[in-house]
Amino acid sequence: MNERDSETLAGVCERLGLSPCEDPADAEVAVLNTCAVREKPQEKVYSRLGELRKLGGKRGGPIIVVTGCVAQIDADQLRRRGADIVVGPRCYDMLQAALEERMLGVAFIEDRDRPMVEGLPAARDSELKAFVNIIYGCDNFCAYCIVPYARGQEQSRLPEDILAEVREVVAGGARDVTLLGQNVNSYGHDLPEPIDFAELMRRVDAVEGLDRLRFTTSHPKDMTQELIDTMAALPSACEHLHLPIQAGSDAVLEAMGRGYSYAHFRSLIDAARAAIPGLSVTTDVMVGFPGETEGDFEATLRAFEEIRFDQAFMFKYNDRPGTRAAKMEPKVPEEEKQRRLLELVALQNEVAREINVAAEGEVFEVLVEEADPKSEGKVRGRTRQNKLMIFPGPEALIGKMATVRAVKGYLWGWVGERV
Ligand code: SF4
Repeated sequence: MNERDSETLAGVCERLGLSPCEDPADAEVAVLNTCAVREKPQEKVYSRLGELRKLGGKRGGPIIVVTGCVAQIDADQLRRRGADIVVGPRCYDMLQAALEERMLGVAFIEDRDRPMVEGLPAARDSELKAFVNIIYGCDNFCAYCIVPYARGQEQSRLPEDILAEVREVVAGGARDVTLLGQNVNSYGHDLPEPIDFAELMRRVDAVEGLDRLRFTTSHPKDMTQELIDTMAALPSACEHLHLPIQAGSDAVLEAMGRGYSYAHFRSLIDAARAAIPGLSVTTDVMVGFPGETEGDFEATLRAFEEIRFDQAFMFKYNDRPGTRAAKMEPKVPEEEKQRRLLELVALQNEVAREINVAAEGEVFEVLVEEADPKSEGKVRGRTRQNKLMIFPGPEALIGKMATVRAVKGYLWGWVGERV
């Protein structure tokens, strides 16, 4: 979602006549788009802010704009540490006016309850792949998570606005579209004419010229058989499901306020795999949630052994001030969290490699994205399962679909050959 926001911020800057420059010392404006979901990226904002301030010298340095979730939850501190303009994630339509008025003084714009505005420009990173927001904010308040405090309540976009954006990106050459939301399964509940996510998928699938449709993120407590059946039925819906497990222990899931048990999560994966042949399943997980015992952690290991995810984003829990979990005890010591993380990563890496090795010899459709930066004469792209494939081929293939046999499997994907 931050990547998609950055495209909007770049679009607003372009509209003002600004263009990217190589060296921050030459910049008139520096925009730091920030993430508050973990501690480290938030700390980095302040060190980057300090570096940008030092560029000041006699010329005064760039106008420093801080956007994103840290801007929403930490505006006062950002002001004290030298940000000129602070814009929360719901207020990007006001960035242009704030920059234009910069000469008049410092601007702080954060209002997480403000309705999102349609029609902002976007300078998109890729022509082939596009992210399209469908719902902003989150109403779930999982115990560890800062997102609802930073991005506010859920607000669905109107289906016609979403469809117009999908048509626009497809007309511009996008072949792979990802529908974005903190919880896409909540889509539509707040709209005047009720529509659910499965129905939205059907309407997006009907857009002419769209080859691949994906979505992220889906919350297990709201995932339905209807959505699984819809994925299975729609030609453009990719064989890839990202479903965050977060923990394998029911006690920890309960303390997190996630609203599902491990058995329920497992039944969703089983149902999806049964309905969608060749499905890849990826997840998010954290270790060391307050009160997580060795037994709880072992339940997570067992879950990973049983489910065998294709890929996982694995993190150590850390406190986000203001959340319920920040006040929960006992905290798991840092070195223990580190040990658990390394153990889980080792297991997951082994599983991912085994899955890819087992698929050697299979043939995949690959959307070729670019020349392989590491080897001459090769190109690379993604399968519908969102796995990386590198294979010998001319650059003329970029932007096209290729049929490729997986020759050798690695942790990250395959080296293949054209069929
Ligand atoms: S569903 Fe939970 S983890 Fe995801 S953004 Fe909402 S509060 Fe955070």
